[in-house]
Amino acid sequence: MEAQHSDAFVFFGATGDLAYKQIFPALQALVRRGQLEAPIVGVGRSGWTREQLIEHARASIKEHSTYDEAAFNKLASLIGYVDGDYRDASTFARLRQALGDARSLLHYLAIPPSVFATVIGGLSEANCTGDARVVLEKPFGRDLKSARELNGILHQHFPEESIFRIDHYLGKEPVQNILYTRFSNAFLEPIWNRTHIRSVQITMAEDFDVRGRGAFYEEAGAIRDVIQNHLLQVLSNLIMDAPLHGAASALRDEKSRVLRAIRPLDVHSIVRGQYRGYRDESGVAENSQVETYAAVRLHVDSWRWADVPFYIRAGKCLPVTCTEVLVEFRRPPRELFGELVPSLSSHLRMRLSREVLIALGVRVKVPGERMAGEDVELIVTRQPGEALTPYERLLGDALRGDPGLFGRQDSIEAQWAVVDPILGDSTPVYEYARNSWGPREAARLIEGDDGWLDPQV
Ligand code: NDP
Repeated sequence: MEAQHSDAFVFFGATGDLAYKQIFPALQALVRRGQLEAPIVGVGRSGWTREQLIEHARASIKEHSTYDEAAFNKLASLIGYVDGDYRDASTFARLRQALGDARSLLHYLAIPPSVFATVIGGLSEANCTGDARVVLEKPFGRDLKSARELNGILHQHFPEESIFRIDHYLGKEPVQNILYTRFSNAFLEPIWNRTHIRSVQITMAEDFDVRGRGAFYEEAGAIRDVIQNHLLQVLSNLIMDAPLHGAASALRDEKSRVLRAIRPLDVHSIVRGQYRGYRDESGVAENSQVETYAAVRLHVDSWRWADVPFYIRAGKCLPVTCTEVLVEFRRPPRELFGELVPSLSSHLRMRLSREVLIALGVRVKVPGERMAGEDVELIVTRQPGEALTPYERLLGDALRGDPGLFGRQDSIEAQWAVVDPILGDSTPVYEYARNSWGPREAARLIEGDDGWLDPQV
């Protein structure tokens, strides 16, 4: 049965940073494509009027997207605003009034996680949860325990199928393309296992620092900010089995199954780093132990992946900005031509940003008498960028009630279970120089393999 389209979009945090940078541009795009015709009610405590919110939305789109006068005018005509604190019950009473007869509400919580429960309670009291869906921004919890508690609170008011946990990485074209390419090419399946794959590396490098968001970052760190969510999701797309069919439920079942097979990390399988100067950032403690870099070695306890190491690292102030997956195939079993074929010769490289590409590395003969080779890469596909921004895709899906690209309770908890044992300062944090590839100590995680393979940009 087709889900019902939401008849109102309730936007908590409409005056915030994420709203300004990403959400208003996505809303204009949805209006332009005819996917958003329902009223939008912003809720914030800035003391603004509706007109101020509309001007704020206009400025946001001009700064972060392409302003489309006709689409924007339509968007503006849909916007309403309720001003008030989330801790005040009258805010929700006024919201209910502003929503009129709308019943299939979509509540989007682009707010600090510390007020999620307050808002859910307020919505329930004001009779706004009945037929509603709720979209929650990341982070979903701070650890396994708090994620479970938050799930418990949500389930008091919403069934699981009405809860949409955002991980905007799942809305990214190249991340979906991993799944699509794997399961649309039968030749890949026979080699996609421990027999043919020697190791997998995922690198998410950023060449910038915390960009003034030191206070936010102090609460997060690289593990909570990107490894627990984005990078474990990328990994699950790489290692899951084929779903029974293409429907959201089947995909999510397989994903959850494989996430539960990832062995929880321990102190020997992680190296944390912090770029020099992080402690001087505003909002950062002078003795902060928060990691701006983390490298982990993971194992997946499944028949398909036994003994294959998966290396993931993410960091700020690295030499480039780039997210890349490198699947390294096994070397030939014998050296027939008297040369040692480098282990990296055969590989599949998937760049997820900024450029998007899939490339296949192969060893080929160089012209001449000798049977000697060189490594070349076949660029299988190269795309200039995203057709839809992740938020345009995800909010459109949520309005239609399609949960496929959102985190389900079991997957989110499985992801927390992987990182839970190493959260906090259970391991040392090593300083590294800006514009380097992180602390030297990270090399020990990958000893015996080829070392970290730095993306070339
Ligand atoms: P901000 O602090 O910029 O915005 C939070 C919003 O919530 C503001 O509109 C604020 O209103 C409102 N708010 C907070 N508490 C109350 C309250 N008690 N009553 C009424 N309004 C309240 O946060 P961000 O936009 O940066 O982040 C929002 C969420 O999105 C967070 O969960 C964050 O982790 C997530 N996120 C953010 C990203 C980003 O780039 N910013 C990226 C990915 C996820 P006011 O301004 O009036 O105080």
